[in-house]
Amino acid sequence: MVLAQLGGTISRALQQMSNATIIDEKVLNDCLNEITRALLQSDVQFNLVRDMQKNIKKIVNLDDLAAGHNKRKIIQQAIFNELCKILDPGKPSFTPKKGKTSVIMFVGLQGSGKTTTCTKYAFYHQKKGWKPALVCADTFRAGAFDQLKQNATKAKIPFYGRFSCIPLFVEIDLSCNSYTESDPVRIAVEGVERFKKENCDLIIVDTSGRHKQEAALFEEIVKFLKQRSIGQAAFDQAQAFKQSVAVGAVIITKMDGHAKGGGALSARAREVEFEQWGRIWSWEKVLVSCISSVASDYGDVHKDDSHNQVAATKSPVIFIGTGEHMDEFEVFDVKPFVSRLLG
Ligand code: GDP
Repeated sequence: MVLAQLGGTISRALQQMSNATIIDEKVLNDCLNEITRALLQSDVQFNLVRDMQKNIKKIVNLDDLAAGHNKRKIIQQAIFNELCKILDPGKPSFTPKKGKTSVIMFVGLQGSGKTTTCTKYAFYHQKKGWKPALVCADTFRAGAFDQLKQNATKAKIPFYGRFSCIPLFVEIDLSCNSYTESDPVRIAVEGVERFKKENCDLIIVDTSGRHKQEAALFEEIVKFLKQRSIGQAAFDQAQAFKQSVAVGAVIITKMDGHAKGGGALSARAREVEFEQWGRIWSWEKVLVSCISSVASDYGDVHKDDSHNQVAATKSPVIFIGTGEHMDEFEVFDVKPFVSRLLG
């Protein structure tokens, strides 16, 4: 079910309820069941939908509502609020400060749109007067650096990274095959250091997202963060680092035409959960996670590991990607989004 359809179905269910002469338990249940079905068909997680239904029924206790109460309005408002609640974790998002260095690392599964979104994010801020830079720490996917380089060049954003070394096609250069050359952590650190010297205030690090095994991702991130802290003797530097990696945030990609309507609603819930996340967020937080709104992007990971993928990050959605192009990128705002959804 695409976004417009989901919105249409919910609006119709609300309309039908409004048309009923008397709002009784049956009318309310029919309306909620219709909305539940639409949300589930749009890939919104079962748990979220069930909780939403429970909460609405708790708020809208028809027996307690005295005559004269506008039951329709109360129900509509409760549904609106619950949809907003699904999307809003109730904590502020990470906001980098112009002129102060922020190192932002993009994580997420391969194909979720990280590389594309890194440039969109950089481009968005560049237009607002920031000095962004891109670092490609994806040494795993052949062509990742090329893709980033191409995007960055188009947007006139400085970039750093290494070509993937494929011994079959290039003259064998031993340094190229050494561990360190293809070490994403080392490349990330080099890139970050370089752009710090160039006074870039938004240093965006793209990662490989190959980690279906969350532990590997965690290790990579921790390795990166440990490296970053080395030599950070000065207090103000340490402070700056702490601030630069303050709070996590989520960008949902592929919210355009082909996207399932529930993408935004379920994306937070679909994030891969693992114990380590907690440690990442509370220790030295890593920033933006790209989550595709298209369920099929998650393939087997999503299916096989679904018990592990309950709401995990509890991080606010900050932007949505609405197409493949650089400027198809919007600030995400919960209430207008839900209003638009409900038509
Ligand atoms: P990565 O592996 O996570 O770095 O993903 P990529 O950035 O390479 O994106 C994977 C595919 O999704 C590419 O074909 C992108 O053009 C496409 N893509 C990324 N973001 C969006 C979006 O917001 N909308 C659409 N329609 N496609 C997107």
